[in-house]
Amino acid sequence: MLVPAKEMLDKARAGKYAVGHFNINNLEWTKAILQTAQELKSPVILGVSEGAGKYMTGYKTIVGMVNGMLEELNITVPVALHLDHGSYEGCLKCIEAGFSSVMFDGSHYPIAENVEKTSELVKICHEKGMSIEAEVGAIGGEEDGVVGMGECADPNECKAIADLGVDFLAAGIGNIHGKYPANWPGLSFETLAAVKEKVGELPLVLHGGTGIPADQIKKAISLGVSKINVNTECQIAFAEATRKYIEEGKDLQGKGFDPRKLLAPGTEAIKATVKEKMELFGSVGKAE
Ligand SMILES: [Zn+2]
Repeated sequence: MLVPAKEMLDKARAGKYAVGHFNINNLEWTKAILQTAQELKSPVILGVSEGAGKYMTGYKTIVGMVNGMLEELNITVPVALHLDHGSYEGCLKCIEAGFSSVMFDGSHYPIAENVEKTSELVKICHEKGMSIEAEVGAIGGEEDGVVGMGECADPNECKAIADLGVDFLAAGIGNIHGKYPANWPGLSFETLAAVKEKVGELPLVLHGGTGIPADQIKKAISLGVSKINVNTECQIAFAEATRKYIEEGKDLQGKGFDPRKLLAPGTEAIKATVKEKMELFGSVGKAE
């Protein structure tokens, strides 16, 4: 059964580890992440961007697929199905479709409008027993065509949004989506500490987990980050393994063109990436 992400993240914050949020794109992605979480006894969050939602033909399809897998694969670890960077309308659709968690990304609105829309959605989500993430300070890089510059969030704005009752908060601390440029200065731990000071025990979220050095990830977790979003890294791992299979001519041998064979190396590569992240984040064994 899907669960909201609040409880698993409160536990993670108290236990000084983080839960991985892995974006899904199709059946292979979802299966690979769920099987790895179960094998490692780790809680997990499946993230769906609005673009991926459209790609998979809609939120109801995703809810059906995920719920089916939880049952058919005997998944017993806590799993949250979470809308990633949702618009106001997207959040309402996911609430209706049966997601267990949403992120409302109002970071591009003026703070007053972000506050108003976030507080409406907090009320709706909590009535339904769902969890909700909000964002302050746009996260850099590109996500579904939206490009941000990698701001550092204003700690007072974080406090204003936290006080609305959101369950966890994404604050920009110099992190960006996608690959990090060579001249990236690193995470702003100063900002993270200032935000933590203002929001207290609220679990914090680190977006753009691909390519942040392990020591910075660990330091961020020690300063209150309890959810880390990973997307690009699984995509790169999948593409590399698939390219290798084709370059080696395996699709031309026997029934190597069978999609179940063709997509298998990529699926295994996602599993390996998810395992590596769960070990780094410290969530292995936390669902026992
Ligand atoms: Zn993000």
